[in-house]
Amino acid sequence: MLDSYEKIREQLMEHEVKPSYNRIKILEYLMKNRDHPTADDIYVELKKELPTLSKATVYNSINAFTHAGLVKVLNMEGNESRYDPVTSTHGHFHCEQCGSYYDFKISVENLRSDDLAGFAIKETDVYLRGICKKCLGGSK
Ligand code: ZN
Ligand code: MN
Repeated sequence: MLDSYEKIREQLMEHEVKPSYNRIKILEYLMKNRDHPTADDIYVELKKELPTLSKATVYNSINAFTHAGLVKVLNMEGNESRYDPVTSTHGHFHCEQCGSYYDFKISVENLRSDDLAGFAIKETDVYLRGICKKCLGGSK
């Protein structure tokens, strides 16, 4: 526990984000809960442990993380933003039934299209929607 706390503190400092106690706890929560939580999820969960935490602090902290490139924002289908500590390129699959967001590996090479020759691509978001294996009963 202490170990991850120290590591996150260092990581924040490396990215020039002031490592307040709340910020460390918020980033730690994101790193331990890879289910792409919303700001509200983070607030509700951490409030149990940090009674003085405010929603504004959660939003401000997440803003600082995204600006520093530590966290990626997922805006899918006009839903509430979700946050992802995995900033490398990967795809998301959203299960309509259980609401889970799954990560999956993608190869950017395979996404290249002649239609975009001469375009500068700055971000790659791959978003698929359907019903996951668990909900289909495929993995028991
Ligand atoms: Zn599902
Ligand atoms: Mn993800």
